[in-house]
Amino acid sequence: MDWGDATIIDRLEEGFPGMQYQKVVTKKWLKNEKYKYDLCYLLSRTKRGSLDTMKLTMTNKLIYDTISEIIGEDVIPIVKYLRNRKNISEFKIAENTNLEVNTTRNMLYRLHDWNIVTYNRKKDRIKGWYISYWTFNLKRLKQVMVQKNKETLEKLKEKLEKEEMNKNSYFLCPNICTRLDFDQATEFGFKCPECGSLLNQQDNTKTIENLKNRVAELESGLK
Ligand SMILES: [Zn+2]
Repeated sequence: MDWGDATIIDRLEEGFPGMQYQKVVTKKWLKNEKYKYDLCYLLSRTKRGSLDTMKLTMTNKLIYDTISEIIGEDVIPIVKYLRNRKNISEFKIAENTNLEVNTTRNMLYRLHDWNIVTYNRKKDRIKGWYISYWTFNLKRLKQVMVQKNKETLEKLKEKLEKEEMNKNSYFLCPNICTRLDFDQATEFGFKCPECGSLLNQQDNTKTIENLKNRVAELESGLK
């Protein structure tokens, strides 16, 4: 599913009259292909006027995507369970996520490596052993997201610089196997190293434009 921006805006205005959708969907969502796709999907399922539900779904998505990327998708059930809870024992977490206690503990420690969860250890008065009670640390997660954006920004800036220095001297395989700069293309005799097709010179104006937009978007988000 891929709607054009105009269709998305139309659909948003229809669903959320009075520009209310702008509170939910920033330009950020439209510029990022991955989120744009998700947005289309959400819109196709969202009922008219369900602004809060959609806002929540999108915020959750950002949170889960960030955690999946840095720690792994497998920990998401724990994050979902723990998100709005405090001081929950690992046994209770395991029980509610249908995971083995050891698996749960392992995942919690992986989250703890990033301080996305914190814990208190308390001695169980009856059994005599220590039990850890876990809490989700949203503040820390926000810091992680900012840090991640800073790193992405640096990479994008480097990429942009390279694209601008090599204006119109990129070479693309017609089968999209590969994209080479001039020196690399020369090295392969202007043929695709994967499939042997003759490479086409590529106008990278659009790439530069996209990169500039993403840099601007990230910079405004980090202010
Ligand atoms: Zn090729």
